[in-house]
Amino acid sequence: MSEWARELERIVAPAIARSATLRELLIAPGALARTGPLARRHFDAASAVVFADEAGFAAAGAQVLEGLSGAGFEASCHVIPARPLPKPTTELAETFRAVLAGAPAPALPVALGSGVINDLVRHAAFRAGLPFLSVATAASMDGYASAGAPLIHDGFKITIPARAPRVIVADLEVIAAAPPEMNSWGYGDLAGKIPAGGDWMLADALGIEPIDDAAWPLVQDNLHGWLADPAALAGGDHAAIARLFLGLSAVGLAMEFHGSSRPASGADHQIAHLWEMEGLQRGGQRVAHGACVAVGCVAVLALYDWLLAQDLGRIDPEAAAAAAPSLDAKFAAIRRAFDDPRIITRAEEETAAKHVERAALEARLARLRAIWPDLRARLRNRLLPAPRMREMLRRAGAPASGEEIGVSPDHMAATLCACRFIRARYTLPDLLAEAGLLDQAVQAVAGGGGANREEAN
Ligand SMILES: [Zn+2]
Repeated sequence: MSEWARELERIVAPAIARSATLRELLIAPGALARTGPLARRHFDAASAVVFADEAGFAAAGAQVLEGLSGAGFEASCHVIPARPLPKPTTELAETFRAVLAGAPAPALPVALGSGVINDLVRHAAFRAGLPFLSVATAASMDGYASAGAPLIHDGFKITIPARAPRVIVADLEVIAAAPPEMNSWGYGDLAGKIPAGGDWMLADALGIEPIDDAAWPLVQDNLHGWLADPAALAGGDHAAIARLFLGLSAVGLAMEFHGSSRPASGADHQIAHLWEMEGLQRGGQRVAHGACVAVGCVAVLALYDWLLAQDLGRIDPEAAAAAAPSLDAKFAAIRRAFDDPRIITRAEEETAAKHVERAALEARLARLRAIWPDLRARLRNRLLPAPRMREMLRRAGAPASGEEIGVSPDHMAATLCACRFIRARYTLPDLLAEAGLLDQAVQAVAGGGGANREEAN
């Protein structure tokens, strides 16, 4: 038995058994041919609607439709343009729901594609109260097995509660034939779990959000192994793709068990979501989620490298807490950082939810100072240095620096300062800001001309 098949049995199968939603994950070469019988076994539906963009449909549409018809479903398809890349909005998801409402009931929604199509179908199926089937066309993101649908609603990227698919089909031949950059995006999305783990360790150590004993080991105990062979992935090696896919699936299950995206998402994702909300483009195309996470991952690891070189034993909690920005000062910074009033309102809510007043902040910083030697050692053990991660991402074919996705040093610096405002989740930029170190750290990591970005008191 191959390494990935063993991991599937040892790591993922027990998690699927625990899952309230996911019943089967089929990873195999030629898995597509088993779609019809699998759907018949797991779904009691009269019709099946295959949702895809043109590229996803070209990759496997005919075979999926044929398989579903052969299994007795009245099969139809709803194909949207692939260029420009469809935008994952709740409005578009609602059009999918309308298509489902027009199909003979009960209908089986089938997501044939990668990130955007899955998020749209996940949302539409959930709203229609229907379980769905996912047929993956690329290992491009961590959301296949995830319950939440990260969609843009009123201009703000939010993770909307939905439900994971009941069945996932990952045909290694189809995924190996995907545009190579797509699988590199999945690698980038998975790589983000390294700094995201660091962020969770900070929140845990400071008594803000405890690490749990189900989601944490599912992702973090195996993560370095899943990321170990980027070159094989870039070469289209089936075993490397299978390991990436099962790692991404494990992340989705970890989010289900934890009840939030904390196991999968820290400052790396806050950075990515910010760029996605800005509509970051490169060469006239929207920059993919996994590409944004890859670059965000390296940036956050560089902040960690900087932090780990500091002696936080020298922090003066009283002085730092006194100098820390008030909530009003944070709101002023939010209004400087964003133009869209809808984004400003949401960012103010998220920021207020994690703001602590002076006495509590002083106690938190005192705790940080006391635990720093131990925490630093544990972070060093768990994280990877940014240069090493940059090299791994490049070998996978993923972007690793801002310039590669159209983010200038100034833009990067502004993002590193503002990303913490868009989520109530406590991450490294929060710690740096509270300790009065954010400007210095960002300057060291991003360069650019931007001093004084941190809000004054
Ligand atoms: Zn992601």
